Amino acid sequence: MATCPRCRGHLTDHHRCPRRPAKVAAELALAAVAGGLLALLVVALIDPGAHLTHVDLAAVTVGMLGGIGLDRLLRG
Ligand SMILES: [Zn+2]
Repeated sequence: MATCPRCRGHLTDHHRCPRRPAKVAAELALAAVAGGLLALLVVALIDPGAHLTHVDLAAVTVGMLGGIGLDRLLRG
């Protein structure tokens, strides 16, 4: 039985490497940061003077969750 060069599991026809928790967490964090920054950018465009400070936190939260959701959706 051949072994997978990446995860060293049995290389069957339907082999898929198990996802490493650390890598998954890093991807989630990256997606959250990207989403949060994107949301901040959108808020900055909508509200250049930053008068609506309470919107920032809400936008970042939504952006982070959206980024995570999109990441989950794209990666399955
Ligand atoms: Zn593998």
